[in-house]
Amino acid sequence: MNDSSMSAYESCMLCPNSCHVDRTSGEVGRCGESDRVRVAWSGLHRGEEPPVTGERGSGMIFFCGCPLHCAYCQNHQISGGAFGGDLSVGIEVSIEELATLMLELQRFGANNLNFVTGTHFIPSIVAALRIARERGVILPVVWNSSGYESIEGLDMIDPFVDLYLVDVKTLDRAVAGRFCGLERYAETIEGVMGYLVSHHDKTCIDTDGRLSGILVRHLMFPGTLDATVRFLRWYARTLKSHCWLSMMVQFVPPKLDVSFPSLSDSEYSRLIDLFNELEIDDGFIQEQGDDIKWIPDFTQDEPFPAPFADVLPFFLNLKHRKSY
Ligand code: SF4
Repeated sequence: MNDSSMSAYESCMLCPNSCHVDRTSGEVGRCGESDRVRVAWSGLHRGEEPPVTGERGSGMIFFCGCPLHCAYCQNHQISGGAFGGDLSVGIEVSIEELATLMLELQRFGANNLNFVTGTHFIPSIVAALRIARERGVILPVVWNSSGYESIEGLDMIDPFVDLYLVDVKTLDRAVAGRFCGLERYAETIEGVMGYLVSHHDKTCIDTDGRLSGILVRHLMFPGTLDATVRFLRWYARTLKSHCWLSMMVQFVPPKLDVSFPSLSDSEYSRLIDLFNELEIDDGFIQEQGDDIKWIPDFTQDEPFPAPFADVLPFFLNLKHRKSY
């Protein structure tokens, strides 16, 4: 284990919140987690973009906690989001166990290792990845995050990352404050994207059909077309030549009985026109009619609908063993 990486927990600055708390002594910052890694779920997931999912599914590890607290978070049971978290969801895993999860995902046929919201556990993930590599794990690594990392955090994880799946939520302070809980998000994301672009080659599909580089995800929030237009113009100016874009338009509220205005036909047409005008060709755009409305339930062994995921048997055993 690299002690210099683990010491980052002692005065934590892994994300732009810069809490400076000593997580090794059990203190927690905004992410709500000490230095003891908690995992909410692991298995194969087939809901990612096709070159990420691959044939059998992406090898997901969902971490508990999050440095942001987005009002719309669909994983609020595990992220501690604005709708409250459930500390009984998720299990604590050692570095060794985390490395074994990676190995078992490879044995299970995963297309890659896909770390979801691991920002606040970067030193532990790096330590586990080193062990996993020594044990023969060769899968590419997908870093699936909000882009809310500090440069210190990125410096640690970047050498291991093959593909960034980055949610670029907004560049607008007011929208960030309303939907992400932090206006600061809008001030930091441009710098993070600059870092990623300067550290990675142009995004491409390799000979095995896997995507590598940077896939930018952008979800349009209800009633914020202007902010999305601003994002798209910025994307075309600064990232288009280097990244792929996955544009999502189906906002699913964290409580399905809460209604939000949905995207109108004219707004969707405006987005398509803008894609053409800005010549954004590489990536994906969600169909307006892709109306799949469900939210994962992490209190269950299988949080996702059956066609989308298979829980990793090793994780299930670990979970049941630790729950009793
Ligand atoms: S990861 Fe971010 S939110 Fe969590 S303690 Fe560190 S600086 Fe604070």
